[in-house]
Parts: sequence; structure tokens; C-alpha cells
Amino acid sequence: MTTSNYVRDLMADLKAKNPAEPEFHQAVQEVVESLDLVLERRPEYRSARIIERMIEPERVVMFRVPWQDDRGGIHINRGFRIEMNSAIGPYKGGLRFHPSVNLGILKFLAFEQVLKNSLTTLPMGGGKGGSDFDPKGKSDNEVMRFCQSFMTELSRHIGPQTDVPAGDIGVGGREIGFLFGHYKRLRNEFTGVLTGKGLSWGGSLIRPEATGYGAVYFAQEMLATRHQTLDGKRCLVSGSGNVAQYTVEKLLQLGAKPLTLSDSDGYIYDEAGISVDRLEFVMELKNVRRGRIREYAERYPGAVYTAVDAPSDVHPLWNHKADCAFPSATQNEISAADAAALLKNGVYCVSEGANMPTVLDGVRQFLDARILYAPGKAANAGGVATSGLEMAQNSMRMSWTREEVDARLHQIMKAIHRNCRETAETFGTPGNYVNGANIAGFLKVADAMIDQGLV
Ligand code: NAP
Repeated sequence: MTTSNYVRDLMADLKAKNPAEPEFHQAVQEVVESLDLVLERRPEYRSARIIERMIEPERVVMFRVPWQDDRGGIHINRGFRIEMNSAIGPYKGGLRFHPSVNLGILKFLAFEQVLKNSLTTLPMGGGKGGSDFDPKGKSDNEVMRFCQSFMTELSRHIGPQTDVPAGDIGVGGREIGFLFGHYKRLRNEFTGVLTGKGLSWGGSLIRPEATGYGAVYFAQEMLATRHQTLDGKRCLVSGSGNVAQYTVEKLLQLGAKPLTLSDSDGYIYDEAGISVDRLEFVMELKNVRRGRIREYAERYPGAVYTAVDAPSDVHPLWNHKADCAFPSATQNEISAADAAALLKNGVYCVSEGANMPTVLDGVRQFLDARILYAPGKAANAGGVATSGLEMAQNSMRMSWTREEVDARLHQIMKAIHRNCRETAETFGTPGNYVNGANIAGFLKVADAMIDQGLV
């Protein structure tokens, strides 16, 4: 069987065995297309059935999460933890609380996480988890009761040497606090079982900033290959949560001009640029008052708010003249039409803070246009890398300074960029960061799996 036929059959089996999981199919498809190049040269991966093993989670836990609201009403949510691959370290990956969460979405995220963690240069396997619980509109007490019920079951499966969850969409500092407090109470152990912790109880400086900063550092590296910097660049940023906020902060530090932010209701476009003061307003709006992004335009009348129809195939945020784009909200937020609009408007550098924000057709358009395009598993790896640094500090019972952690993050992002670039070249596709990230991430895990035998 030719390699391409092998990949085609593999995808057909995957879809038959995991129906109704389109995001998981999409994530695997993108990776196996790149791995076609590896299997030609390294047939041993095929005979050891490494890819077949990597697309089957080592373990999936799915559980009931009952909790009570402030009026005494009873709610039942579904909790998950996907322990995808532990070949190079304990399972590591975030928890997502969002009504859209289901098994297929978490499997796509866990699969991406395995390759991403491999790229970080740190010893971390891959996992992901979460729940279809929606923290929006809930009181702090309701969120706490939910987190405690969720952790009551999750605590049986995680541990600092086994599986170390972190935050993701809907899981920030508040939720990690409630989850950590309950784990500690149940187990009578103060350990680094979660990352993204508060500074006074085992957290690392720069962890909140790391994903956004890292995505900007990656863009900086890509631009440097064309002898350019971010200074003066017009930048489109989506989302207004953790990743988007710190992307904007780092862009401002490097002299760029961020123009947009969004949430699931709509987006703002600020031709004057989102300044340091305006970003401060957004952080207070989103992290303290938990309000909507439309309030930005009420506060700053020069900015324009546009409501967005979620089921539509075009998102007007991507239809503005710009140089760079930092999608930082969620998966598949850049459709094929949006990718075409970005290219038409002059965008030539895309660094993905979100996981798989671009549909496959959009990815192909970026690659065909030969723009600087960094897939999420490379560009947003700074978050989990800094979680790895938090684990290291917890093990040593030490805290590094802000400067030290930021310098390590910066070095890691440079190393990931170099590795992706060199790997893409080695496999005959120079400048293709998708192939570079997929192949470099895969090789380390695949070799570890071969060394460890059939487990
Ligand atoms: P967050 O703080 O919860 O913010 C998420 C943002 O995206 C919010 O503005 C949210 O708007 C918007 N959003 C979420 N789901 C959406 C949907 N279905 N449609 C439209 N907008 C949506 O989450 P985050 O940590 O910034 O994560 C953002 C992305 O980065 C995710 O893809 C995540 O997997 C990825 N990521 C995060 C980290 C990390 O360290 N946090 C690391 C690597 C990758 P609403 O408030 O209206 O929902």
C-alpha cells in the first residue's frame, strides 16, 4: 500500500470508529497529511502502528457532575478527562468549561496537546478535560459548588506525577483556585497537581501572560526571517479572554497597533488602536465585572461595535486592512471565506493563540499564499511551556522571578520556532510551519513510544 493510501485508510477507520467527532477528524487529518512525508522515510513507524496508537486515547474518563444553584435547583453536567499520551511525561493539558464541550472537541484538543507539549522541549505528555458547564452568568458560589463536585471525581484520576490539568476557555484563576482547594481537602496533600495557581499558593509568575506573550514571540521570530519587526504593524486579535488580553499587552510593548477584540456576541474595531489604558479597561471588564465587549464601544465612542451572528460563515473581524492576525478565541473561528478575506486585506503573518482556529481549507489557502502562518500547536505552546516551568518550580519548592520566567518562555518560543523551521526544511517543505510543527512534535513522541515497547 502506498503511504497516501495508508493515510486515506487510516482516516476512514478513524471516522468509522469515532463518528460525530468532526473536530477530532479535522485535527488528525491535518497532522497525518504532514506525516505522509515522514512515513516515506521512516517505515518503522508504520509497522509499529504508531499513528494508530496515538489517535487512541490511553484512557478516557467521563463522569456525572451534579451541583446545586443558589436557589436550590439541581443541575447535572458532564465531566471529562482525556488522558491521551504519556510517552514523554505525565498527562498535561487544560480544562475547558463551555456549553459546547463534548468528547470529540476534547479529543481534538488532547491530540493537539500531545504534539504541542512535545514541541515545548519539556517532559510532558498530553491530556485535556472539562465540562459542558457554562460559568457565564453564574455566581461565584455556584462556580465553586460546580468546581468542587467536578474535582470530587477528577481527583481520583490526577496527581503531580500522573496528570496535571490547567485552565482553558472558562477556566481561569478563580476556577483553578476552587479546584485546587477541593483537591487539597480531599487528598490532604499540597502538591503541584494543577497549574495556573495563584502566586501565593504555588503559582508561577508570567503563567497568566504566557500563551498570549508566546504567540507574539512566535510572530516576532517569523517576521525576523523576513527582516521585519512588529513595530507599527496593524494587528487583528479575536477573543477578549486570557490569551487575547496578553497578546494585546505584548503587541503594545513591541510597538504594534492592535485594532480588534471580540467575544461570542460580537467584536470591536478601534482605528485609534487599543492602547494600554483601553486594555486595562478590557481586563477589568472581562476579569472582574465579567461584562461584554460591546461596553468597550460605549466607553470609547471612536470604536465601532458589530454584533455577530454565530452561525454565519463569515466573521467581519477578519475583514479589515491589517498586517498580522492573532486568532485567540476558539476552534474554527476562521472559515475558508475569512481566510480569503485576510489574504485580500494584506495579512501576511498569522500566529494562532487559539487551538485550531482555522478550518482546513483556510490553512491550505495560507500555505498556498506562502504567508507566515504558525499553527496553534506551535504558536500557543508558551502557555503549557510555562505550566511546565510552574511544575519545575513546585518540585524544587522555589519561585523564579518574573524576568527569569519570561526569559525562559522567550527562549522556548525561539527554540520551537527554530525546530519547526528546520524540520520543515529537512522534510522538503521550507517555510511550512504546519509540517514543521506536526513532524517535529510527532518524532519525539513516536521514538519514545518505540523505545517503551507495546504499551
Ligand atoms: P477565555 O479566557 O475563556 O476566553 C475565551 C474568549 O473566546 C472569550 O472572549 C470568549 O467569548 C471567546 N469564545 C469562546 N468560545 C467562543 C465561541 N464558541 N464563539 C465565539 N467566541 C468564543 O479562554 P482563553 O484561555 O483565552 O482561550 C482562548 C483560546 O486559546 C482557546 O482556543 C484555548 O484552547 C486556547 N489556548 C489557551 C491557553 C491558555 O493558557 N489559556 C493555552 C493554549 C491555547 P465569550 O466570553 O463570549 O464566551
